[in-house]
Amino acid sequence: MKIALFGGTFDPVHLGHIAVARAAAEKFGLGRVYFVPADLPPHKQKRKLADFQHRFAMLALATADDPRFVASLLDAHTGQPNYSIDTVRRLKSTLKKSDKLYFLIGIDAFKDIATWRQPEELLAEVEFIVVSRPGYSLADVGRALPESLRPTDLMMRAMRPQRSEGTIALMGATIHLLGEVREKVSSTQIRAAATKSVKQLSRYVPPLVAEYIKKENLYVEATSKESTGASADKVLSFQEARHGHTSRSHKNG
Ligand code: ATP
Ligand code: MG
Repeated sequence: MKIALFGGTFDPVHLGHIAVARAAAEKFGLGRVYFVPADLPPHKQKRKLADFQHRFAMLALATADDPRFVASLLDAHTGQPNYSIDTVRRLKSTLKKSDKLYFLIGIDAFKDIATWRQPEELLAEVEFIVVSRPGYSLADVGRALPESLRPTDLMMRAMRPQRSEGTIALMGATIHLLGEVREKVSSTQIRAAATKSVKQLSRYVPPLVAEYIKKENLYVEATSKESTGASADKVLSFQEARHGHTSRSHKNG
């Protein structure tokens, strides 16, 4: 079976995450996508995250209706920061020989890959699927790689990954580009909008997740402490009359 590991803080999971998983599952024939919330993400320890249990519970609700999607406890409490190289190796050790594992990631996160722990080893362990995100360009994939793997401009041109689709195959790394996702939403925006109604929140998170945020009174205090630099109305167009999720008018991808 083809399987993807989709890591993140998921604070909270939103419709952008679901769109990423769905697009990857369709395109690569994935039989399973593990959504793996990090207990202690190495890169996100400045802001206080919602409790792991809440983030996991919301993922369980968000993934319940798709048989391919599973909320995973792979990165539950170990007392150590969750490094992807360890998570990937732990998951791989449980898979069958005939299984194939992919690492699913948005371009904004992939841009920092060179600063992760043992990036070369991670890229050698598992093929990556890098997904577009409004505001970021998939053309930056090559440049984001650790120096030892970084292709020259000439090599990139020779491989000719179409602007937002195709595969970059290097010695020591295989990276598939998936440029069709154009979901503008982010968890930061949801946290800033946590005082909105369930109905309004449900345009950006699955309805059961919206209910959960309200029931547990999540993000209400955090909102004032976190400097998002923008109010909820500015960052998410809650006033829009039409239905549907997020604006699809953004370029990139
Ligand atoms: P935050 O605003 O707190 O950083 P986030 O919306 O970026 O939250 P994360 O949990 O940080 O969500 O992201 C987990 C993974 O999902 C990352 O690989 C990220 O790039 C990807 N991702 C999140 N939102 C989107 C989106 N709207 N489009 C494409 N990829 C996304
Ligand atoms: Mg993020």
